[in-house]
Amino acid sequence: VPTVYFTRTFQAAHRLSGHLGKCSRIHGHNFALEVEIETDELGDDGFVVEFDYVKQLVDEYDHRLILKDGDPVADHLPADWVVLVPDDPSTEFMAGYLADQLATLVRLKNSDGGEVYVEVTLRETDSIAASGCAEL
Ligand SMILES: [Zn+2]
Repeated sequence: VPTVYFTRTFQAAHRLSGHLGKCSRIHGHNFALEVEIETDELGDDGFVVEFDYVKQLVDEYDHRLILKDGDPVADHLPADWVVLVPDDPSTEFMAGYLADQLATLVRLKNSDGGEVYVEVTLRETDSIAASGCAEL
């Protein structure tokens, strides 16, 4: 099975609007994303997916504030400072969300590749990481 592994780091801030502790305040992390992507077949270009597409997707989060859609904090900031996601952007949520986004991207860019399986590990600190996977 054709498989590729990517790693990408990005710096981003987030807050968990539903959290009662310090994570409800805006704070940042140096996130490290490890990605594994499998497809049944290679695309016409010989790739599972071009790394450039993965970089573009991940870099959307770089130097931005990740907020749950509807978080009132977003109303006070320029739109391009913020990325809105469907739920509180815990590292656990973001791992699954990024896996879904990457699977959708690979399916779009490699339509001949058959089934797509994506597994990600998102590291928020040296001691905390979350994983997620998606299949399309
Ligand atoms: Zn955090």
